[in-house]
Amino acid sequence: MAWRSHGRDNNDLIDNMKRNGLLKSDRVIEAMKKVDRANYLRLKSDAYYDAPSPIEFGATISAPHMHAYAAENLLPLCKSGAKILDVGSGSGYTCAVFHHLVEDGTVIGIDHIPELVHFSVQNLRSDGLGAQIDGDRIKMVVGDGRQGYPESGPYNVIHVGASAPALPQALVEQLARPGRMFIPVGEGEQYIWQVDKDEHGSVKKTKLFGVRYVPLTDRQSQQPYL
Ligand code: SAH
Repeated sequence: MAWRSHGRDNNDLIDNMKRNGLLKSDRVIEAMKKVDRANYLRLKSDAYYDAPSPIEFGATISAPHMHAYAAENLLPLCKSGAKILDVGSGSGYTCAVFHHLVEDGTVIGIDHIPELVHFSVQNLRSDGLGAQIDGDRIKMVVGDGRQGYPESGPYNVIHVGASAPALPQALVEQLARPGRMFIPVGEGEQYIWQVDKDEHGSVKKTKLFGVRYVPLTDRQSQQPYL
């Protein structure tokens, strides 16, 4: 439960999540300790609660345990030099965690709200990642993430932070061989799907667990962005 993992500071939050069984991998724990969640929120008082928090424009930064699940699921593909696409990058938090998992790799964050992309760049700079942005190790772009970002693909890892009505084919196409995608799918009931592409290009889809994410949608439909 969210309140059980509340921390005094970022390290304490991550330690409590580990104690409560929400975080297992040392690599993910190390990466999440390097990313101070306070730099990615509008409501700083929410920073060290294991709960989502609004970041305006109809978006929320997800709860830390969801970020932890995603990072642990994608970890086997987060190898040195990997290319990662983070769709619906919002606050930029997940881009920072993925950067620390693949330091010499490349992370592309894509969001369709320009103000949120600007917010995420500021957040990443406040969190000490300005050089990585200037050096294109982390690149934040405005665009419709349902189309992916073919310019920089294919990607070993695709993380989707908003729920798609159906699995976007463009994202499956932009998975590298091998590659893995972590994506919430569904409109009423939503489930996380793990989509694996092997070295020969065969695709395997695995349904993992039920979730509640904001929708992957048109900019005009995103409330209260209208
Ligand atoms: N991982 C982010 C999640 C933010 S909420 C975080 O924890 O901060 C989901 C995000 O998806 C929002 O920022 C929203 O603007 C974005 N989004 C929704 N539909 C999109 C689309 N079609 N293309 C790109 N981004 C989209």
